[in-house]
Amino acid sequence: MEALLRFDNVSKQYPNGVHALNGVSFTVGEGEFISVIGPSGSGKSTLLNLLMAGHSGYAGEILYDGRELSTVSTQSLYELVSLVEQNVFVFNSTLRDNITMFRDFPPQQVQRAEELSGLAPIIQEKGEGYLCGENGSGLSGGQRQRVSIARCLLRHTPVLLVDEATASLDKETAFRISSSILDLEGLTRVVVTHSLDEALLRRYDGILVLHHGRVVETGQFQELMDRKGLFYSLYTVAQ
Ligand code: ADP
Ligand code: MG
Repeated sequence: MEALLRFDNVSKQYPNGVHALNGVSFTVGEGEFISVIGPSGSGKSTLLNLLMAGHSGYAGEILYDGRELSTVSTQSLYELVSLVEQNVFVFNSTLRDNITMFRDFPPQQVQRAEELSGLAPIIQEKGEGYLCGENGSGLSGGQRQRVSIARCLLRHTPVLLVDEATASLDKETAFRISSSILDLEGLTRVVVTHSLDEALLRRYDGILVLHHGRVVETGQFQELMDRKGLFYSLYTVAQ
């Protein structure tokens, strides 16, 4: 499988001196879905943010389809990758406007995004004209994240990045959102997940385990369990 995304010895130091990533290397093939797991502060969000930010300073190489990220224009990057965010901004407007970001799309495309993101039930109940309220106060945390997924699906980028919410979502909602992302086909996905659920974890093509900004283990669920290392500990503690 051709590598769509490649990190080669990537390090990231923040201006305050914190080394958030130290020599991280991995590849993601086209259409693969990869999970990034690690304790708080291990560098998971930094890794995703590097993929979105383009020109921000890092050492090493980040390659998209063989092109170094720092040479990819912001516009090309925008067409290549989208990020499902934890704290997405919701406008005080209708659900439909919040999904389409006030742009025109064919109705079937909007409907598909609503279904795949899991927004169909609330739309059936309240309608596309439902007003989301100031800062999305009329939506639950899970619904806001689904709006973010629907926006990303409409943008139709080949790469989807997900920084899964922790605090704002209950376990059940987080599980359902992870499942809907796993169900999306033909998309290359990198998901920072906190849902340490065996049925979900078994569905990833690969799991990347970060600790102190380093990749300490990689593999599929069973391989990582058999190693009895950090992944095994994190998984066991979460049960
Ligand atoms: P995770 O998402 O796994 O919790 P992060 O990537 O957010 O980890 O953070 C990795 C390390 O970098 C932590 O020590 C964190 O405190 C630090 N860090 C994250 N963002 C910044 C920032 N903008 N400026 C300085 N340090 C940061
Ligand atoms: Mg984080």
